[in-house]
Amino acid sequence: MIIILKKDPEPKQLENLKAWLTGQKLTIHESRGESHTILGLVGDTTAVDIDLLRALDIVEDVKRVQEPYKNANRKFHEEDTVIAVGPAQLGGGVFALIAGPCSVESEAQICGVARSVKQAGATMLRGGAFKPRASPYSFQGLRGEGLTLLLEAKKQTGLPVVTEIMDLSQLELFADVDVIQVGARNMQNFELLKELGHTGKPILIKRGLANTLEELLMSAEYVMAGGNPNVALCERGIRTFETAARNTLDLSAIPLLKRMSHLPVIVDPSHATGIASLVKPMALAATAAGADGLMIEVHNDPSHALSDGAQSLTPEAFADVAAAVRAVLPFACRYDHGKAV
Ligand code: PEP
Ligand code: MN
Repeated sequence: MIIILKKDPEPKQLENLKAWLTGQKLTIHESRGESHTILGLVGDTTAVDIDLLRALDIVEDVKRVQEPYKNANRKFHEEDTVIAVGPAQLGGGVFALIAGPCSVESEAQICGVARSVKQAGATMLRGGAFKPRASPYSFQGLRGEGLTLLLEAKKQTGLPVVTEIMDLSQLELFADVDVIQVGARNMQNFELLKELGHTGKPILIKRGLANTLEELLMSAEYVMAGGNPNVALCERGIRTFETAARNTLDLSAIPLLKRMSHLPVIVDPSHATGIASLVKPMALAATAAGADGLMIEVHNDPSHALSDGAQSLTPEAFADVAAAVRAVLPFACRYDHGKAV
């Protein structure tokens, strides 16, 4: 971290600042120029509040030369993280194809969809039991019963399951869930992230609607700092000024996250577009760009789905997308230690 001081800093304030920095176990390299004095800080600056420093009278600007995330940082962990999920995998060159309905609605629905997506090549089953809905009048999910049905579908098909947790109080119900999803709206629920850090479970963190990649990695950092290294990231589109699609899929997040971090990167073209006919092109684009997997919403009867029917594929349409993804995979961009090769 570099602190650029204003011209002729008040000596007492400078002394106080230096004493405070030294107290943070940082070594200071001071260089006095014609117009500015610069303090170069060496040591662990992850806990330093950059805004607090910027607000000081004698400080002109502060620049980070090291990212504020450590555990999630490619610089400190060169090799890709690979997460084993039963017979499936997140990262490590094994493509994860996660498919299933937005919401678990009934035993027949979830078990039927599970069988079809497995047949089409899905490696994991998704299905929401606790649903974060914009309206309190919309279907809120089958909650505990939804988890039971999801686990029944797992038993019948052998597919590991991915499902969203919305609140800490639900955690004990997730004991048999294979991958716990933290949804976009909870990406910065730091208490939840901290608690998930104390589980050994794979955690799939979805990017918040208006969050930067650095913020996404800081959320991963919360889980990892608690001792859980099994974190995967999910790009699911962000809010922009464009309204033609539900969100805007940020495809450049794939190569950027690969460079910034060693964590697996999954893309969700369903929530990214909100429109079923856009899912195939975006799924192929994300595959070609080198994503480690896709998460796609599939419903046996999209027009009667209790949530996100407009973006849900029929099992037949999913089978077509899955085959197209497999055809693209041999030509997909590969990354070597985060660099596209
Ligand atoms: C979901 O995957 O069901 C979901 C609600 O997604 P997101 O958090 O990305 O909106
Ligand atoms: Mn959904």
